[in-house]
Amino acid sequence: MERHAEPTEYQELEGGPLLKERRPEPCVLTIFGISGDLSREKLLPSLARLTRGGALPKGLVVAGVSRSATSFEADTPFPVHPIDVDLREARSFDRLATELRGLEASGETQGNRLIYLALPPDVVPATLAELGRAGVIQKGARRPWHRVIIEKPVGHDLDSARDLNRLALDVLDEEQIYRIDHYLGKETVQNLLVFRFGNAIFEPVWNHRYIDHVQITVAEEHDIGTRGGFYDQTGVVRDMMQNHLLQILSHVAMESPVSFAADDIRDKKHELLRSLRPHDGRAVFGQYAGYRETKGVTPGSKTPTYVATKVFIDNWRWKGVPFYLRTGKGLSEKVSEVSVHFDPIPHCLFGTEEVCQRVEPNVLTIGIQPEQKITVQFIAKVPGDDLSVGRVAMSFDYADGDLSARIPEAYERLLLDSLRGDATLFMRRDAVETSWKYVEPLLAPSMPDTYEIGSSGPVAAQELMRKDGRQWRSL
Ligand code: NDP
Repeated sequence: MERHAEPTEYQELEGGPLLKERRPEPCVLTIFGISGDLSREKLLPSLARLTRGGALPKGLVVAGVSRSATSFEADTPFPVHPIDVDLREARSFDRLATELRGLEASGETQGNRLIYLALPPDVVPATLAELGRAGVIQKGARRPWHRVIIEKPVGHDLDSARDLNRLALDVLDEEQIYRIDHYLGKETVQNLLVFRFGNAIFEPVWNHRYIDHVQITVAEEHDIGTRGGFYDQTGVVRDMMQNHLLQILSHVAMESPVSFAADDIRDKKHELLRSLRPHDGRAVFGQYAGYRETKGVTPGSKTPTYVATKVFIDNWRWKGVPFYLRTGKGLSEKVSEVSVHFDPIPHCLFGTEEVCQRVEPNVLTIGIQPEQKITVQFIAKVPGDDLSVGRVAMSFDYADGDLSARIPEAYERLLLDSLRGDATLFMRRDAVETSWKYVEPLLAPSMPDTYEIGSSGPVAAQELMRKDGRQWRSL
């Protein structure tokens, strides 16, 4: 394969012994919102690490846009060209177009442009339209290429997501749009597909015949901090479920793609989202105690900070298998994981009832964070001269063993992929809209149950499982 032929320094950084990717082409990367949290905490540090690892193209030029760009001091191993503009003013965009042409004239970027919109969501629609009008981006531009990265949230509900997508497609083709869900940049989320489709032993049992249920947990320890105004308008379903949880679910449950090409994978993920049984709106909603005292939160707010619900996939593979999803803030632990709970053995052979009770069904756990780890629990004989059994675990941890190369930050991977033009890990329009459609019944919840900060969530969430004769993995 030609595109994997050229060995480069940065392949070591990615640590991938099998898949080698090509070096990106030079371009002007313009970060809109250069002085914001996302740029400071994630984008610039990721670019710095990529630079040190030699992963970026030699001619890359980085520009930063915001109202205060020139007074923002970036601590980076590369220059950031600041452009001070107010994006609410249409004439700013003509100036931007001129500035970018100036940067291009002095560099070797071959006219390629990557725009990163790290902006407040309400500034994004007009910015996209004006970028198109001023010719900063051109629909269909392939050589040189123009691409735009759009941060989550893509819309606030189905209608607004459709509006934003329509607007983006007025000024760009779908292949030029990179919608980020940074969870997809996480190594373990990507490994879900390699694990499932690179090993022959799991696929035959990955279905309703052998699996009792699946749990997906994204628990956060921290509360909403100073983001009261934003969070109160958003809530947990928009913030976490519509995107991260449904994306993880689609990786766990999708059918095998024809190839690992971007659209083959995205076709199958979308097919899975379309197979979800329409949600009836029943879920456990929680709000941590003290949430309403946060600055920016409306008094008596009903915005949930926790949700737990049961989801079904109506297709041959998953008929009747419940997928339990839960996510929340202010919980006892920060953990994201998928656990696949297999059926119990059909008949216990081990003598006494006491021994049989210890024969727990197998559980396969895929840790996404903080531990990036896969564990299989099974039953083994306890050594001795009688028949006693105990639970043991077999595990693979990214932190040790043969694959212990430095794990890249999600944003490093996503920045590199967008520079390379690989859209596999970005959300396609159809998947975004289908996810919004799916969560719509959960967007206007009733009064949430209160739970204590540092707990495992509302009591009713435990009840949701208990009613089904199951229990959550402990946090
Ligand atoms: P911030 O509010 O911290 O930053 C917003 C940036 O936009 C600032 O640089 C601000 O600069 C600039 N800006 C705002 N209005 C204008 C304007 N009219 N003209 C020019 N520049 C403007 O937001 P975040 O960085 O936290 O988030 C950005 C986006 O990324 C949001 O959509 C968010 O949902 C998403 N996101 C953020 C994450 C994070 O970790 N922070 C994680 C995932 C997604 P100035 O005021 O100087 O103009």
